[in-house]
Amino acid sequence: MTSTTITLNNGVEMPALGLGVFLTPAGQTADAVSTAIGNGYRLIDTAAAYMNERAVGDGIRASGLDRDELFVTTKLWPGQYGDQAVHGFAASLDRLGLEHVDLYLLHWPVPTAFDATVKAYRAMDEMRAEGRVRTIGVCNFLPHRLQRLEEETGLVPALNQIELNPYYTQPATRAANAERGIFTQAWAPIGGTYQRNQDAVTNGAASPLEHPLITSLAQKYGKTPAQVVIRWHLDHGLSAIPKSVHAKRIGENFDVFDFSLAPEEIAEIDTLDTGVRAGGDPETFTAYSYLTDIDAQ
Ligand code: NDP
Repeated sequence: MTSTTITLNNGVEMPALGLGVFLTPAGQTADAVSTAIGNGYRLIDTAAAYMNERAVGDGIRASGLDRDELFVTTKLWPGQYGDQAVHGFAASLDRLGLEHVDLYLLHWPVPTAFDATVKAYRAMDEMRAEGRVRTIGVCNFLPHRLQRLEEETGLVPALNQIELNPYYTQPATRAANAERGIFTQAWAPIGGTYQRNQDAVTNGAASPLEHPLITSLAQKYGKTPAQVVIRWHLDHGLSAIPKSVHAKRIGENFDVFDFSLAPEEIAEIDTLDTGVRAGGDPETFTAYSYLTDIDAQ
């Protein structure tokens, strides 16, 4: 089975469905990655901050797959914005054991130091021009941040990776991405690893995977709730990078290319939006300031 492919605004092709490894312990990452590749995944999403880039590289090599058949994403951590960006990238490549990455992303905007954010993006564009990165983009950029980045650099990211699942559908940011030709990729695609607060819960179901609409569609299609939610992303033309450390779930999350949802079912799932994030708010999130020793891995 193979994932559908998306063409980004610079012509680079990217698989729509991939494996995320946030909170995958380094000791389990190589297995998760090689299991995913064995199941047909060709997109792996990691980050310097996930502390598992070395293990991602090990998993890729263990899979035996040719590097050119894979699409590898990693991310620059805010602690290395500004002058540290080139070093941060070289360290990621070194840990991964790769000569290039397919997609390099700014992990978060830093509203209190947006100049450093912009400077890092310019540095990433130079890495792209040198051929060490095929594509560059951002994560967690709200529309006004995309606008400012474009005004200051003249650059339009290929992709914006944002929190996105049936409980938090981000219509405004998706529309702003689409207007600029920026592709939307969903993190926390099946509900994420963060505990949702009461405002972010609907119909008593703490996770979209437990919502009666999703479970009834799962029953209808003979699929699992996770597969229905992943299909919702794909049927919207989005990219999703679900994470799991379990071989069975890794396989399950990729086994979604033999069915699709009806337009009215997609629209019904859209109505589950609570408008409330479970993860960090890009305008106030500062948790990245605690992870200062990114090189000590
Ligand atoms: P996901 O929506 O992928 O959810 C992961 C959780 O769902 C884990 O607890 C996992 O548990 C569980 N799970 C996985 N498969 C199934 C299944 N079939 N049935 C039931 N439960 C399942 O959330 P993430 O936060 O991990 O987001 C995905 C990826 O997005 C990350 O791994 C990372 O690569 C990226 N990301 C990017 C961010 C950014 O700021 N750019 C922020 C956060 C994430 P288990 O592992 O035990 O199976």
